[in-house]
Amino acid sequence: MQVRRRGDVGPAVAEISSTLTALGLLSAPDGHGAVQHAVFDQAVEHAVRTFQQQRGLITDGVVGPATFRALRDATYHLGGRPLAYLVSAPMTGDDVFALQEKLLELGYDAGRADGTFGPQVELALRSFQRDYGLVIDGICGPGTIRALRQLAPKVRGGRPVLLREQERVRQAGPLLRGKRIVVDPGHGGPDRGAVVGATHEADLMWDLARRLEGQMAATGMEALLSRGEDSSPTDPERAAFANETGADLFLSLHVDANHSPLAEGVACFHYGTPNGTSTVGEALSGLIQRELSARTGLLDCRSHPRTWEPLRMTRCPAVRVEVGYLTNPGDLARLTNPGFRDLVAESILIAVKRLYLLGENDQPTGTFTFSDILRHELAKAE
Ligand SMILES: [Zn+2]
Repeated sequence: MQVRRRGDVGPAVAEISSTLTALGLLSAPDGHGAVQHAVFDQAVEHAVRTFQQQRGLITDGVVGPATFRALRDATYHLGGRPLAYLVSAPMTGDDVFALQEKLLELGYDAGRADGTFGPQVELALRSFQRDYGLVIDGICGPGTIRALRQLAPKVRGGRPVLLREQERVRQAGPLLRGKRIVVDPGHGGPDRGAVVGATHEADLMWDLARRLEGQMAATGMEALLSRGEDSSPTDPERAAFANETGADLFLSLHVDANHSPLAEGVACFHYGTPNGTSTVGEALSGLIQRELSARTGLLDCRSHPRTWEPLRMTRCPAVRVEVGYLTNPGDLARLTNPGFRDLVAESILIAVKRLYLLGENDQPTGTFTFSDILRHELAKAE
């Protein structure tokens, strides 16, 4: 799909603006009976940014593939069309997301709410239909919608998919040895990410990922990189890689940029919606955030839930780290120092170790070292 930005015209722009208008983010242009903005003007750009912010997308005011998909998905409301599992082209949309949330609230394991009607959603839907005496066809049509609307959620918090994640970490044991981690350096190839002077986010994150990979390998972990040095897979491809390799964790590495040089600091993101969050992802995100802000001196911009594609589509707990702003002179000076990038990698590794320790051998944030980890791994392996 062609990227649409300020100044563009044409049917795609009309479609974008009518969707934004339907979502209440854009008012129709004045006069002449026009119902849509035919030009991607400032008002459209502003509405795109607001939409991106609401959806946890990168707020660049430009409609690329991810924003276009999110816009299309946002036009669907539960009950507006029948939903079913289509093997060749799975249905996606906000209505599927709402259905998954409903089923999860009612205690049916519809998998992680990712807005995609896959086989697990069908199984959960069939169980629901059986339990409530409906026609068991795995199709979410008018009868099923009516039944779903009449039911109040049982108990919140007992989401099977999240409990399963926690159990997996507990069973995995405290050793890092043998754990498989997908390290995902942001951007790559023609996609340079944030660029300030000679510093490109794509190269910086590649370097950081290699350092982290090296440290992980030294502890006996299996670190897999989601991309090569010069390639740029899409977000769904990166998530699929983590799923296909059966990763235990997915760690995405980015830096941020802002039009203001004053914006600075480190933030972490995990999968979450207002109705439920990945408990393991949230725990890991908090651990990485704490270790990084304690060790690196970067400003603590906290850990936050987001529904970004790679966080949403990975089956394992996933965290995205935004380690500083390239547009901030202080952060930039730190990040261009290789020793600092080693420190960032070490902080992330220690946070991962803490996750698997589950509070055992606990030491205050910022005091655990790489050699402590090696010692612990060796002592336990004997
Ligand atoms: Zn980035």
